[in-house]
Amino acid sequence: MDEFSIGCPYCGESIDLLVDGSEGEHECYEDCSVCCSPIFLEVSFDELGKLKVLAKRDSD
Ligand SMILES: [Zn+2]
Repeated sequence: MDEFSIGCPYCGESIDLLVDGSEGEHECYEDCSVCCSPIFLEVSFDELGKLKVLAKRDSD
């Protein structure tokens, strides 16, 4: 598990979350711990094989 700090696309607060890179590329939802909105997370790997997480609004 890797810890990521992302900015909530709803309220802009920075939240920490744990992402399991062993699952490979996947998408999931995480509720913001500040505003409780469902953040859509896109987990993928960059060209160096490093895990990266993209946080989006549900409707995007
Ligand atoms: Zn939020």
